[in-house]
Amino acid sequence: MEPNHEPTRPLILVCNDDGIDAPGIRALAAAMTSLGEVHIVAPIDEQSAVGHAITVRDPVRARPWDFDVPGGTVTAHAVTGTPADCVKLAANQLLPREPDLVVSGINRGPNTAVNVIYSGTVSAATEGAILGYEAIAFSLCDWEAEDYSAAARWARRIAARVLADGLPTGLLLNVNIPALSDDELMGVEITRQARSRWEESFIERSDPFKQPYYWLSGRFVNLDEGEHTDLNAVERGCISITPLRIDLTAHDALDTLRDWSWTPDVQVQDET
Ligand code: MN
Repeated sequence: MEPNHEPTRPLILVCNDDGIDAPGIRALAAAMTSLGEVHIVAPIDEQSAVGHAITVRDPVRARPWDFDVPGGTVTAHAVTGTPADCVKLAANQLLPREPDLVVSGINRGPNTAVNVIYSGTVSAATEGAILGYEAIAFSLCDWEAEDYSAAARWARRIAARVLADGLPTGLLLNVNIPALSDDELMGVEITRQARSRWEESFIERSDPFKQPYYWLSGRFVNLDEGEHTDLNAVERGCISITPLRIDLTAHDALDTLRDWSWTPDVQVQDET
């Protein structure tokens, strides 16, 4: 047992999708050391945009990883899997007990609007919520950022709030932090996902065997001019906190669909 070990300190699992060597997870883990006992279980390679993929046809390996953070002791494992794999493996095998909080990030780049669907960062937190733990995903809204310190300070405040108050069952928080200084950040806004899509295009090239291959490209389009969206909050310099549900059911559509006739007397044209 480590000296000064306090068994009652919250156990905080830290994951990400940018890989265990990314600057964002280092900043997040360091920020969490003042709140609890930190365990990092993160992908050994970048897993951005893998969504909620899990590994079921290949072995998953976990390797103890040297991970130093200023002023704190953490244990770390690098995993040959996805963010969701990391959280499952941590909870089932690697952690000394159940986590009190699962945090993911701090992602390099925003996870706002429809990007929540593709995000590995959000999926690590979603997996935490599925397993019954408090869970938060953090993203810094700048692909080129090198300084995660202001975002990490907000991550600590938000995590402390969740540890103190808890979240309703089946919810997680998706937090997007503008890449601004402490002075410039305008505080927290509770938001909903903006309606958006990617207008996609594929660049076609030829491989050395003269076979075509394709590279996904695209342009992000905000389709939502409404208030209190994640995109709008971040544009105004606010930290966007969106509560997400594991339950994807469109509850407001249930009655409408139940009113449809589902009996076999509604014939499809070609059906005989
Ligand atoms: Mn990422």
